[in-house]
Amino acid sequence: MGDKNLLSCTKSGVKIIPADENDASPLTLPEPTWIPDKQIQSCSLCQTKFDLFNRKHHCRRCGTCICRKCCHNRPLPRMCFIDPVLQCNLCSLVSTQEDIFFDEHLKYLQQGSVLNVMNYDVSDDNVKAVPMFCRLSRSQREILFQCEKKQTVNVIEPILLSEIKEMIKISSHKHSNITGIKLLYDNASREHQTCTMKVSPTSPQQHHQLQWLDALLKAFELVQETKKLMPAGNTIEIQE
Ligand SMILES: [Zn+2]
Ligand SMILES: [Zn+2]
Repeated sequence: MGDKNLLSCTKSGVKIIPADENDASPLTLPEPTWIPDKQIQSCSLCQTKFDLFNRKHHCRRCGTCICRKCCHNRPLPRMCFIDPVLQCNLCSLVSTQEDIFFDEHLKYLQQGSVLNVMNYDVSDDNVKAVPMFCRLSRSQREILFQCEKKQTVNVIEPILLSEIKEMIKISSHKHSNITGIKLLYDNASREHQTCTMKVSPTSPQQHHQLQWLDALLKAFELVQETKKLMPAGNTIEIQE
C-alpha cells in the first residue's frame, strides 16, 4: 500500500488518484453531484436562458449548471485533475485563492521545519519541549516528527491530519503574533491527545517556523472543508 497511483477518467476529466482510496489526501474534495440538465432552464449565475446556441455547462467543483460566459477553465488540484477543468465564476475564485496553498504552503509543510514540540502523551509530569523536525508526509496524510538530538528517547507518533479536531493559536502577551499552535487530536487508539508546537524565539529560523505553522493552519481549514463535503458513508469504518 502507499505510493501506487492510477489514472482515472471521470465525466469531469482525467485524474491521478491513489490506487487505494484509503491513501487519499485529506485535502481532496469529493466530486459534486451534477444538477440534472432537465431541471435547469437558465444559467444559475447570470439567469440567461439556455437554448441551442447558449449551451449548458457543469461546474466541476460545485455541480451547478452555468452558461459558457459564467465559467472558466481552471486548475483544481483538490480534485486531482491533471488539466484545468470548467468551473463557475464563484468556484474559480475559490480555486484561485487555493493556488497559493498548493504553490507555496504545501511545499513549506513537506519541506519541514524544526519546532519545539511538547506532547502530553508521555507519562512524565515535567514535560519539556523538545526540538523536533516536523514535516507533512508526501501523501499529505500525516505530520511526522523526527528528533533533532539523536540521544533523546522522546518519540512522537505521526499525527493524522484528518484526526486533528482543533488547532488553537498560541500568542505571546507582548505581541499578538502567534508563537505556536496547540493541536487536539485522536491517536491510532482513538485516545484524545494534545501536542504543542512552538517557534523558538532565539532561532534564526523563526520566520521559517512561523511560515510552517501558518501553512499548517491553512491545511487544517481545507481538511475541515473536505470533511463537511464528504458523504457520510465515507467516514464510517466498516468492521467485519
Ligand atoms: Zn451565465
Ligand atoms: Zn461552481
